[in-house]
Amino acid sequence: MYLKSLEIQGFKSFANKLVFEFKGGITGIVGPNGSGKSNVADAVRWVLGEQSAKQLRGAKMEDIIFSGTQTRKPLGFAYVAITLDNSDHQLAIDYDEVKVARRVYRSGESEYLINGTNCRLKDVQELFLDTGIGKEGYSIIGQGQIDKILSGKPEDRRELFDEAAGIVKFKKRKATAEKN
Ligand code: ATP
Ligand code: MG
Repeated sequence: MYLKSLEIQGFKSFANKLVFEFKGGITGIVGPNGSGKSNVADAVRWVLGEQSAKQLRGAKMEDIIFSGTQTRKPLGFAYVAITLDNSDHQLAIDYDEVKVARRVYRSGESEYLINGTNCRLKDVQELFLDTGIGKEGYSIIGQGQIDKILSGKPEDRRELFDEAAGIVKFKKRKATAEKN
């Protein structure tokens, strides 16, 4: 499984629709300070279900919607989609290509889509459980995160190992079973 493309529209500094195509190997994103490099990583975090505005370096969720410039009006929504190659079927879904999208309007109304079909945040989270991708995954390592892992509480560090070992889904199922 790998990230094939990323589509961004109206997210943070990206007003126009923008499509990144990733062709194997390593991709580096370079640019001057404030040009939007970190916003690209934020977009990936957001589409994977990030709920905390602070994690996305904003004060409130609306801050992720393009807020306009001197020459351009603010936009009314933000949209991000990632397309993953799933030909190895690491994601438990019957498609060779999986597109996960999220859209939010200024009104706060929001939606998630998996391959064009509306779904819940929970569906997106479950799709990525134990893959290392996702909000609690380790596929996006932000600034300062390494320090946090090294100096964090043992229980928090354990969560990272559980995710890497692929046992989170069993732990979740056990917790649900014990509740019922
Ligand atoms: P550095 O090299 O300093 O880390 P960077 O390339 O990572 O910079 P980002 O932090 O990704 O830069 O981008 C910051 C820019 O994004 C700022 O210019 C900020 O004004 C702009 N920005 C953030 N949110 C919005 C928004 N909602 N609407 C418009 N622009 C935004
Ligand atoms: Mg940055």
